Amino acid sequence: HLYNKIRENINQFIKKNHYTAIFTISGGILPFYNLLESEYDEMMKRTDFSLNTAKKRGRNRYYIFNEQDYQRFLHLKDISDVLHAAVIHDFRGFSVALQPLVKAGCRQPFGAETLMRFSSGQFGTISPAEFIPILEESGLIIPAGRWIIREALQACKKLRETIPDFQVSINISQIQIEKSDVIQDISAELENAKLPPEALIVELTESALLEDNSNARHFLKELRKAGIRLALDDFGTGYSSLSYLNGLPIDTLKIDKSFVDRVMTDRSTRIIMESVITMVNKLGYETIAEGVEEEEQLNYMKEIGCHIIQGYYLGKPMPGDDLEKLLQEMAKREGK
Ligand code: C2E
Ligand code: CA
Ligand code: CA
Repeated sequence: HLYNKIRENINQFIKKNHYTAIFTISGGILPFYNLLESEYDEMMKRTDFSLNTAKKRGRNRYYIFNEQDYQRFLHLKDISDVLHAAVIHDFRGFSVALQPLVKAGCRQPFGAETLMRFSSGQFGTISPAEFIPILEESGLIIPAGRWIIREALQACKKLRETIPDFQVSINISQIQIEKSDVIQDISAELENAKLPPEALIVELTESALLEDNSNARHFLKELRKAGIRLALDDFGTGYSSLSYLNGLPIDTLKIDKSFVDRVMTDRSTRIIMESVITMVNKLGYETIAEGVEEEEQLNYMKEIGCHIIQGYYLGKPMPGDDLEKLLQEMAKREGK
């Protein structure tokens, strides 16, 4: 009530004085029953949290304190502090997992997707679904992204001793494109590892690719110029429309797991999947099916013309050394 009254009064005031001003009024509300046993400092923290939450949720609104939201906020803040400390201490706790990419009809991986892992003494292993957004929000994704580019290429170099043209893909987030010179970082690391651009595939999601700003355009142009291939990640989620695929500067389309999941059980998913693969093949892009967990799915995806398979069925994400052993064993068996 009070919030609405304040807003109304300020509105009137601006109108009456013929001010031309754009303004928002945000309110953080801490109910009295939350105050009873609190110290002053704690009350102020909760009030700040409430006001900041109102602003974060789009401003010009109020937010009423909620204990669950607050505990979640404190938890994320703790994780964020731990990630920050890890980045400062030479990426202690970060590691890299590689998940095999296999050509349909083959068993031997020709490449792998690089996935970031993080664990800390305090929290144990934290899922990327939880820590990647925190890295992005805090800007730590820029140093962490640089770190994983280096790790990915060093791993690739090592794996090329077993499979000479082995490739790695890395995930690049929109923040890195907007706020850092990723292309410069990638080129420097390729040079450092003495690897050709074909060794690397950059994976971007739709939002990063469609972002209509000059940084994104510059990034795509430079990537092309450098001869580095680009994959569109998570296709089938979000707003993917088929028409925009035409003319996108991509080489590969990665079909999202949620789409692949439904393929054996849902007829209409199969119809869409078949059309997408046919169309994408005709456009000249390669296709990767993500999250293939069963032989049935693998056979089906292969049958409808999907080029590359990734998923637990053919290999979970694993440390570089394990992948190296696996590749060596496969090469030995083939040699026999
Ligand atoms: P993504 O890029 O779509 O990566 C594929 C995810 O699917 C990985 O999850 C992988 O472990 C999982 N996956 C693959 N095959 C299967 C399967 O057969 N079954 C199931 N259930 N899952 C499968 P992960 O490693 O948890 O990564 C989650 C997301 O975090 C990634 O999704 C990516 O968006 C992000 N991420 C991971 N590493 C990085 C990174 O280095 N940089 C950035 N910017 N994002 C990253
Ligand atoms: Ca990916
Ligand atoms: Ca994906």
